Amino acid sequence: RAKENGKNRVAFYDAEMQRIVTERLQLESDLHLGLKHGQFQLHYQLQVDCQQQPAGVEALVRWHSPERGWVSPGAFIPLAEENGFIVPLGHWVLDQACHQLAQWQAAPAPFSQLVMAVNVSARQFHQPAFVASVEAALARSGAPPRLLKLELTESVFAQDLELIRDRLQRLKALGIRVSLDDFGTGYSSLGYLKRLPLDELKIDQGFVRSLHRSAGDAAIARMIIALAAEMELTVVAEGVERDDQFQALLAMGCDRFQGFLFARPLALAEVESRLHGVDA
Ligand code: C2E
Ligand code: MG
Ligand code: MG
Ligand code: MG
Repeated sequence: RAKENGKNRVAFYDAEMQRIVTERLQLESDLHLGLKHGQFQLHYQLQVDCQQQPAGVEALVRWHSPERGWVSPGAFIPLAEENGFIVPLGHWVLDQACHQLAQWQAAPAPFSQLVMAVNVSARQFHQPAFVASVEAALARSGAPPRLLKLELTESVFAQDLELIRDRLQRLKALGIRVSLDDFGTGYSSLGYLKRLPLDELKIDQGFVRSLHRSAGDAAIARMIIALAAEMELTVVAEGVERDDQFQALLAMGCDRFQGFLFARPLALAEVESRLHGVDA
């Protein structure tokens, strides 16, 4: 009897596994088709300075699938990193962001001064042709490199540090900036900070979220801001939702702010109409 039960359970797991595998394959093929058929879009979330004036935007990818509706990046970026789809998607994102940056550059202020931040995943960064692809995207669009910023996460640094440094130096030689996203959540040592040519640290939203009720999180935010100042890096807080969080970060010396308090990620037309109301 026990044996029989076991058999049933195995059969159940097999069916369940089968279903999961089939779904993943379907998602994978839908992603490829989606890219081919123009179902991806960039949304833009404002980053503001201490006076709450727009300083730049972060490009965040969105997928509208005819079968699934809007799919958030959290639901497909991890899979895309695993199966390599992030490489063609990342190319598209970079191209699109550079194209938009060039358009804005040619418009009056505040558009012409916006810095465009683009997320780059570890898998993408480690492609041998990555630097060349950034260079090509800049050349194709005519976007000014000094207004392009790449956001990397610490997962990038899991590989050989010399190799990473060489790649970062070649990116910096193009004139672009490099930011370290979700800072404080990784497991790597802090040693790489002094060895890598970074421009910016981005305090992870986890620390910002509980700033007002956790002395520990407030201490970490304060430490990151002090560390950034010491190393002459700019520092951005992400996930700022409340005015008391903004005020606390401002008092700690944070330079840039991003979060629902200022703006949600918006479609192109929406972010443009928001910015039209701003005096340069
Ligand atoms: P991230 O780069 O850390 O982006 C910040 C995320 O926080 C975004 O989620 C944004 O919508 C969200 N956010 C911003 N302000 C607030 C706030 O005040 N409160 C809360 N609760 N959330 C806020 P999103 O757009 O869902 O993106 C999630 C992640 O997906 C990104 O995290 C990034 O790691 C990845 N991602 C998005 N677009 C791309 C892309 O084009 N390429 C790559 N490689 N990854 C991307
Ligand atoms: Mg980011
Ligand atoms: Mg982040
Ligand atoms: Mg994040």
